[in-house]
Amino acid sequence: MRIVFLGPPGAGKGTQAETISKEKNLSHISSGNLLREAVETGTETGIKARDYIEKGLLVPDQIVVDIIKERILKDDCKEGFILDGFPRTLSQAKVLDEMLKKLGNKLDLVFYFAVSKESVVLRLSGRRICSICGANYHVKYVPSSKDGICDKCGGKLYQRADDKLETVLERMRVYHEQTEDLIEYYRKNDILKEIVSDANIETITKNILDIIKSNLKYKPLISFGVI
Ligand SMILES: [Zn+2]
Repeated sequence: MRIVFLGPPGAGKGTQAETISKEKNLSHISSGNLLREAVETGTETGIKARDYIEKGLLVPDQIVVDIIKERILKDDCKEGFILDGFPRTLSQAKVLDEMLKKLGNKLDLVFYFAVSKESVVLRLSGRRICSICGANYHVKYVPSSKDGICDKCGGKLYQRADDKLETVLERMRVYHEQTEDLIEYYRKNDILKEIVSDANIETITKNILDIIKSNLKYKPLISFGVI
């Protein structure tokens, strides 16, 4: 199974990718980590990517896809993978498809984590972090017992600049603008599955597993030698 997880920041797709990859024996490939790893280990494509990063330039899509290619040819991707955080644009999706096609592969499913603005705002803008020990809190879901004070060390809690309301709304706006035609592309290819990620984590996991299961069922029998 070759799967892509798409969704705006705060949609909880990282957590789901973590769970589902373990459950289905897939590799969880987070594009941010992947790029960092490739640069650190100094693979051929990693070195190319480093040149761009050091100059403060965006790494070209083709290089990112080459790094993904190196990664998915490894043994732990035999059963497939979940690509998390890539592609983000239509042109990236096309480069990715092209690469998979050359390997005789294709994406099986794309999960789009649709979230309401309200729930993203609630989730992100309620986050608080301890300024001393780094412990995570949430004003609604994981509140500290004393307002603004860390339970573990008594440190002051603060809100990351990234989590401020205006920043969260702006990130969501940019995300939707960038991904609109990407989502449409996968919808046309008939592999897009929308996940309403306002539900609780366990329900979402179950929904995703059900969709994966029903997609496996309808696979052609070529792999069993039936003509
Ligand atoms: Zn603390």
